[in-house]
Amino acid sequence: MNWAKEFGTLLRIPLKKSLINKNVVDLKTTVIGAYPKPAYLKIPDFFNTGDEKKAGLLGASLKAYSEMMASQTDESKQQLEKDVIRASKELIAKQCQCGVDIPTDGEVRRENYLHYLCRFIEGIDFEKPKEMSVRNNAYTAVVPTVTGEVSWRGGLDCAEEWKKAQACAPAGCDVKYTLPGPMTLVGSVFDAHYKDDVRLAGDLAKIVNKQVLELAAAGCKYIQIDEPVFARKPEDCLRYGVRCLEECFAGIPEGTVERTMHMCCGYPGHVDQTDFLKADTSAYRKIAPALDVSCVDAVSIEDAWCTNDLSLLRLFTKTKVILGTMNVSSSKVETVEEMRSRLAEALKYIEPARLMVAPDCGLGLLQGEKYGHLLEQKLTNMCRAAKGVPFCAAFSKKRTCEGQDDSQPPKKKAA
Ligand SMILES: [Zn+2]
Repeated sequence: MNWAKEFGTLLRIPLKKSLINKNVVDLKTTVIGAYPKPAYLKIPDFFNTGDEKKAGLLGASLKAYSEMMASQTDESKQQLEKDVIRASKELIAKQCQCGVDIPTDGEVRRENYLHYLCRFIEGIDFEKPKEMSVRNNAYTAVVPTVTGEVSWRGGLDCAEEWKKAQACAPAGCDVKYTLPGPMTLVGSVFDAHYKDDVRLAGDLAKIVNKQVLELAAAGCKYIQIDEPVFARKPEDCLRYGVRCLEECFAGIPEGTVERTMHMCCGYPGHVDQTDFLKADTSAYRKIAPALDVSCVDAVSIEDAWCTNDLSLLRLFTKTKVILGTMNVSSSKVETVEEMRSRLAEALKYIEPARLMVAPDCGLGLLQGEKYGHLLEQKLTNMCRAAKGVPFCAAFSKKRTCEGQDDSQPPKKKAA
């Protein structure tokens, strides 16, 4: 027998996959915020302008929403509230059916994710809308004007809204509540008063913080602050954005809330649009270290649209990453296999306890007869992909040898 030849043959036998990847893990799934509004819910929506080819929808519904609010009677208010609760129930149930572990209320009460809050802030005037270029000239939008010092006017109770949404969820399911962050708010209003982004953001952070504390006191476990502008302006983000974000979470009793932030690169005006000016994903690398040492427990980033170099995840050493695994502006239904293999790839750079799964951004674009049915297919596939993800135990072992216990994510500092 030619032992050298036989030994060579043995070496060439490929190891069975099951022998390499002995472990599989179930990753938690969530969504980012918006869900398409049902047709019966008569709230103007910035995703729906009636012209599906129109890019840059932000603020398109500003006037329509103002007019709706102004013309409301007691009766129409009651009807609207009934419809909101019906919609919340339906779409939380839909998300759960798709397999989402942590759903949102779909932001169905809002005309868009950020201006809704602004309507209850003294010093922000909706009677004087301005058309301006936003998101580093990605598109123009009609925005309200800052005409004086900003302070909380009242009239909106976020904690109460969350309680109502939570009551629509099945037992054991925690509903996440989302709020816009100070830097994104600054980038979504026309400032005719402060002329000082840092000071305006600081005052807005106090307003957001009030809502956050009330939500925490009401028992909301998942609070997410949306800061898409971080990726557009990484230098400003490092100069004051992260600090203001931390101020939003200040004072929450330790261990009661998962402090989450969402940082995306923006979405187009219609499904499958490719000529849209997204933020440069290199911003993620610039910002990650600052977020990692901040009080934020979980950072949501895009990956489905932009396929990052996943070594990016190594920059998060203490913070959970919510990886965008489903493209929210594409009509292509991603398969379970392709999404799961991307997650397996991610687990080479971050331990399973710190990886969560979500779509890239809000789901409002995938609506109507043309796209509505695709949304559920895509979301179901994403949730299936998140369960039974293979990972190499050696990675976890290495970190455990280094003194890191991977069964629980490391503790973050208090805000
Ligand atoms: Zn987003």
